[in-house]
Amino acid sequence: MKFICDDNLGKLAKWLRTLGYDTLFYPDIEDTELVSNALREERIILSRDTELKRFKSVEKKLFLLSGNQPLGQLKEVLKRFNLKPQEKNLFTRCLLCNQLLIPVPKKEVESRVPPFVFKTQENFIYCSKCNKFYWAGTHLKNLKRTMVEEKVMEKAS
Ligand SMILES: [Zn+2]
Repeated sequence: MKFICDDNLGKLAKWLRTLGYDTLFYPDIEDTELVSNALREERIILSRDTELKRFKSVEKKLFLLSGNQPLGQLKEVLKRFNLKPQEKNLFTRCLLCNQLLIPVPKKEVESRVPPFVFKTQENFIYCSKCNKFYWAGTHLKNLKRTMVEEKVMEKAS
């Protein structure tokens, strides 16, 4: 299942990417562009703009969110499409550009990340589009806890 978020849903897009869902987001996208992209790439449109209902071609691809809190919106999407986020899919996509991240062996990143990070982290992932390295750190642990507490994800066994 792939999504495209309307402008002003940037935070929701980041949440979806964090959980590993293929999600496009462009700030200031025109409605017509949003619609043609959804049709071309078979994406579900996530929006709060009821005006989009005028595009009959995407009637079945449009999901209008009712809440305005990103985490609440995330739950609306998961519920509507009956999605069950998996721990193994966390941080598999770049939060900035949606590209799938590639695991990189530690020895290859020594000159590319801060020394402290290199010393304390074992797992590195890379976005080839942004030329950016990510590492889990405490962030991933906190994120997992939040996802479990918010009942977005089940506790890993
Ligand atoms: Zn990226």
